[in-house]
Amino acid sequence: MACQRWQVCWSSGEYNTLRALLEQAAKENQLRCPYCSFADTQVIDSRESDDGAVIRRRRKCPQCNGRFTTYERAEAAQFMVVKKDGRREPFSRDKLTRNTLKALEKRPVPQELVERFLQRVEQRLYELGKSEVSSREIGQLVLEGLKELDPVAYVRFASVYMGVSDLEALQQVIHQLMVQQQSYAHPSTRRDSG
Ligand SMILES: [Zn+2]
Repeated sequence: MACQRWQVCWSSGEYNTLRALLEQAAKENQLRCPYCSFADTQVIDSRESDDGAVIRRRRKCPQCNGRFTTYERAEAAQFMVVKKDGRREPFSRDKLTRNTLKALEKRPVPQELVERFLQRVEQRLYELGKSEVSSREIGQLVLEGLKELDPVAYVRFASVYMGVSDLEALQQVIHQLMVQQQSYAHPSTRRDSG
C-alpha cells in the first residue's frame, strides 16, 4: 500500500492486524452477554421510567438466547449510598464489585456467575427507585445472593460488613454449612480450607 500522506506506511499484514484490533475494540464497547460473553447482543424492548431518568432495555443474546436487562441512567440521576456513619456517596459499581470479589477470593465460582450476580444486585438496587439507599440495604442484597452463590463467601461477607445483631444468624449459617459439608463429603472432593 503506497501512501504519500501518512508518515508510516502500513504493509497489508499490519493493516489487517490494525483493522482486527479496531474491530475488536468496537466489539468490547458493546454490551456483552452476561451468560456467554458474546458481544453482539440485540435490544428487544426499550422503555423509559415515568420521569425519564432511567431507560430499561431488554436484550437478547443471539448466541445462547439468554435474555437480560440493562438500565441506563444519567450519571447525575444516580442514587446515593448512605453509609453507617451517615455520610453519603454516589453508588459505585466498582466498589460493590471489589467488596464482593474480596469475599469470593479463591472460591471456585465461575466469573460469569459472579458477573451475573453483580448485575442482579445492581438491577435490584435501581428497581428500588430510590434516590438514597443505605449501605446496609446493599449489604443485605449482596448477602441474600451470596448465600446461594457460595456459602463461604456469604460467611466472609457477613462477618466483614454486617453488624453484631447478625452474628446469631451467621452462626446458624455456619452450622448449616458444617452439616452440609458432612453430608456432601465425598472421597474425590478436594478440601478447601479457605
Ligand atoms: Zn449469550
